[in-house]
Amino acid sequence: LIAFLLYLFYLVAPIGQIVEGLVQLQQGLAAMKRIKEIEDLPAEPVGATVPVTVGAGDPVGVRFEDVVFRYGDDRPTVHDGVSFEVPPGGLTALVGPSGAGKSTVFALLERFYEHQDGRITVDGRDIRDWPLAELRATLGYVEQDAPVLAGTLRENLLFAAQDATEEELRRAIVRTRLDDLVSRLPEGLDTAVGHRGVLLSGGERQRVAIARALLRKPRLLLLDEATSQLDAVNELRLREVIAEVAAETTVLVIAHRLSTVTNADRIVVMEAGGVRAVGTHAELVGEDDLYRELAATQFLVS
Ligand code: ATP
Repeated sequence: LIAFLLYLFYLVAPIGQIVEGLVQLQQGLAAMKRIKEIEDLPAEPVGATVPVTVGAGDPVGVRFEDVVFRYGDDRPTVHDGVSFEVPPGGLTALVGPSGAGKSTVFALLERFYEHQDGRITVDGRDIRDWPLAELRATLGYVEQDAPVLAGTLRENLLFAAQDATEEELRRAIVRTRLDDLVSRLPEGLDTAVGHRGVLLSGGERQRVAIARALLRKPRLLLLDEATSQLDAVNELRLREVIAEVAAETTVLVIAHRLSTVTNADRIVVMEAGGVRAVGTHAELVGEDDLYRELAATQFLVS
């Protein structure tokens, strides 16, 4: 019996190896297919041929002209003829109920997705004509809950701008009112932050993310404002930072705070994939029911 089992083992073992080999071959073929698919992707969207001056620091404006967009052919239409203008410089706030399509405005500007109809321009030029890398270098994007990376505060700030000088770093820290934080940290800029180091508050995290974006010298800052409650000091600091940045560049903010909308030069009210109204806080409170309701129920007040 033992001899028979040994015989069976010798017979079965190679079969196991063959099966294993076939599985590996199949995995290898699948990986090759994926690499081929990635290789076949166009390096850059077609039409990106117009040269653009990099590093020209002037603020840029944005126009959405009858933009139509859905996330996929079988998905509902998200933008159904969105039109609005953001002039160069100053603070423009996007507001609207959840699902109105505000974040999608940012996604389209960054060209994470392509709109199906209409036209989007940045600095008067169709975004489809911008070389993608230059478009993205022109825009600074601050997510709502931008993560703090494992590492020091300096590493966090220089993450996307390794070439920034000490002077540029210092200026970004002052502009985002992070100098207090730096002086409080035991090793200043070289203190570890995040879950392995000093934990930063919601307001500090958003200002770190703004500083990180500013170090790339954007000509338009897209800011998805944090929804976390801030204490009065952090609220004031964030308001000062946004106002100061908007004095030098264009800021388009998805606003959740009353202090942001009251300071905005113009507010674009979105509803169900369209633009419902545009105006200042005072104008909209007087004229627009939906805005009045948003102001009463949705904006955070410290
Ligand atoms: P909120 O204030 O809740 O973030 P919003 O106004 O920013 O809302 P969007 O996030 O732009 O709205 O979403 C608009 C619509 O598009 C929603 O119905 C949403 O479910 C859908 N949507 C958003 N992102 C995607 C995606 N990546 N894939 C498919 N549908 C999406």
